[in-house]
Amino acid sequence: MIKTLGYAAKSATAALGEFAFERREPGALDVQIEILFCGVCHTDLHQVRNDWKGSNYPIVPGHEIVGRVVKTGGGVKKVKIGDAAAVGCMVDSCRACRNCKDGMEQYCEKTSIFTYNSPDKHSGGLTYGGYSERIVVDEAFVLKVPEKLDLAATAPLLCAGITTYSPLRHWKVGEGQRVGVVGLGGLGHMGVKFAAAFGAEVVVFTTSPGKKADALRLGAHEAVVSKNADEMKAQAGRFDFILDTVAANHDINAYLALLKRDGTLTLVGAPPEPISVTGFQLIGKRGSFSGSLIGGIQETQEMLDFCGARGIVSDIETIRMQEINAAFERLLKSDVKYRFVIDMKTLKK
Ligand code: NAP
Ligand code: ZN
Ligand code: ZN
Repeated sequence: MIKTLGYAAKSATAALGEFAFERREPGALDVQIEILFCGVCHTDLHQVRNDWKGSNYPIVPGHEIVGRVVKTGGGVKKVKIGDAAAVGCMVDSCRACRNCKDGMEQYCEKTSIFTYNSPDKHSGGLTYGGYSERIVVDEAFVLKVPEKLDLAATAPLLCAGITTYSPLRHWKVGEGQRVGVVGLGGLGHMGVKFAAAFGAEVVVFTTSPGKKADALRLGAHEAVVSKNADEMKAQAGRFDFILDTVAANHDINAYLALLKRDGTLTLVGAPPEPISVTGFQLIGKRGSFSGSLIGGIQETQEMLDFCGARGIVSDIETIRMQEINAAFERLLKSDVKYRFVIDMKTLKK
């Protein structure tokens, strides 16, 4: 076993602090990665605070992991020692069900094993995530990182990137379409970059007037302050597709009203409370309301390769491990531009 230091929450009300645990020695198909950077996803905060219920403690969060391969099992073919490698939201799945076979392990019919807070068949305990020195993962769930990308700014692609890339691809967003992105945080800013890269006309909906100029810099053609009723009214009935990334409860009907006939609103944000949909908002335009969960391993690699070819990374603010609790408080205030990334070499200082 490999002694490993991480940062964990021991209850829903406790601050994160140092936590010592053990990683397994790499088996034949395992890859040992020394973690260089880990992004801070709003899901980490939901899980730590038990917003969705069902959290198990201690939680070592973190599923936007980039590092260097330091050891591989004898059967590993995907990466070699010294390579930049990444781990996203999953570390295993049943690999046998229809969805796993289709490359969509996130929808595993048995159970996806998430990077943290899932049962760990190796230890008999819980999986522990990327707020830690290292991770040992089966090569089937390891991603290759295009070498020319900045590694810190690549980390958020592993969740914020794939979670926005996947629905934009699935609903075939592209040229000639008007696309809305609701919420300019970690997911939202990647949604803007991808929708613009796919050729769509992008409109950002933000509650933060101070983010308007950034929205345009990130690739949006227009930015709307969603608290302004007149600005919202001017957008009614104009959208082919809307990606909603908001982490807190909000009025979804205000956005359904913006769809064109046959338009789709897809939810990726995961507010804890049930959402109330006014049926007539959909009936009156043959509209669709849908959801999407991260993306499969194959599509995550496709997304990373696309980013490598286009030079797309996240806009980040690097933090020290010890600043994580303050970063969580800032996430709650939408005070993020646009992803916090932990520099893991600060963990031991
Ligand atoms: P984030 O960085 O905190 O961004 C969320 C943004 O939503 C905020 O920056 C803010 O943008 C907006 N917002 C916050 N509170 C709001 C409110 N009360 N009303 C309207 N807008 C509000 O969070 P994230 O990491 O992007 O994650 C967003 C959500 O997606 C979380 O719920 C997370 O758990 C979920 N998630 C889902 C998946 C999936 O697979 N479906 C994957 C990852 C994360 P403005 O300042 O622009 O208004
Ligand atoms: Zn995430
Ligand atoms: Zn499965």
